[in-house]
Amino acid sequence: MKLEKLQLILKDEPGFREKQAFEGVFKKLVSDWNEVTNLPKNLQEKLNEQCSLEVDGKVFESKDGKTFKALITLKDSEKIEAVLMRYEDGRNSLCVSSQVGCALGCKFCATGKMGIKRSLSSDEIVDQFLFFARFLKEKFGENEKITNVIFMGMGEPFLNYDNVMKAIEILNDEKAIGLGARNISVSTSGIIEGIKKFSDEERQVNLAISLHAPNDELRSELMPINKKDKLQDVLNAVDEYISKRKRKVMFEYLLIDGVNDSEENAKELATLMKKPLYMVNLINYNPTGNFNPSSKKNVDRFLNVLKKTGVNATLRHSFGGDIKAACGQLANES
Ligand code: SAH
Ligand code: SF4
Repeated sequence: MKLEKLQLILKDEPGFREKQAFEGVFKKLVSDWNEVTNLPKNLQEKLNEQCSLEVDGKVFESKDGKTFKALITLKDSEKIEAVLMRYEDGRNSLCVSSQVGCALGCKFCATGKMGIKRSLSSDEIVDQFLFFARFLKEKFGENEKITNVIFMGMGEPFLNYDNVMKAIEILNDEKAIGLGARNISVSTSGIIEGIKKFSDEERQVNLAISLHAPNDELRSELMPINKKDKLQDVLNAVDEYISKRKRKVMFEYLLIDGVNDSEENAKELATLMKKPLYMVNLINYNPTGNFNPSSKKNVDRFLNVLKKTGVNATLRHSFGGDIKAACGQLANES
């Protein structure tokens, strides 16, 4: 939905209309203005015409019924994906895209292979939320809500900084969605300028850094952006963020067989990561063509080296491999 358009139309209406409209869209989660029954008929029609609530999405469900991927077709026919993960503990975590494709071409990432088409507007990001909030309500009932939003879908959020922040504002706004900032996370491949700007944001949104290698040589090979925004400079920017915001930072590290999963790699990473507010999240690599996932033995060894060194590290299992909804597999094949 085009929020600015909505606000423009409502400017000519009495003040309470905005509250009614917002409640309809964000709380009742309607997909047609006619369902906002406290609005006058002519306004409903005008809004349906100029400010449609429809989101064109098709849902795929994983075999275990815990992961749902939506293939969303945008107004200009470009396609993006959003993924909903349902956890045993009741959390429903939504992974959103920030761009159509990605310019950064990381070797292990399916999105990276597509190249970049364009960035998403804040409305297109919020629409991914509305789509799945409606889906959850319809399929699992009123009480099922999206509890977390992570910017780990297609695209590099910090190369679409303003629209991502605007979307976060709407997600966080009590009058709109009202999701706690601490339940929102942004993952970046290490765009230093973005990390710096993010350090000055008041909202307590979580920051995650995709690291994937413990030195410049290997990281530049896997993630071409590292040739520009180098590992140590990224870490310096993160330290500045931590000193300003006093918040934890999550470092994501994919384990790829024979590439970045040796004992030496683990030791090198441990040296970098042994800091109070640093947390390391090891991720099983989801095959996208180029590489193989690390063996269980190597994963365990890697985790043990980090833990023995006193690094705060966890292993994250992956969701939705069978519907290509797992991280890095988002490339809208259909
Ligand atoms: N561009 C941002 C956010 C999107 S990628 C970034 O890179 O951080 C989100 C996460 O998916 C990142 O941690 C990324 O490294 C991870 N990822 C990419 N390819 C993957 C793969 N094949 N298997 C598992 N995770 C992958
Ligand atoms: Fe882009 Fe992130 Fe994929 Fe790298 S991992 S290509 S930055 S989406």
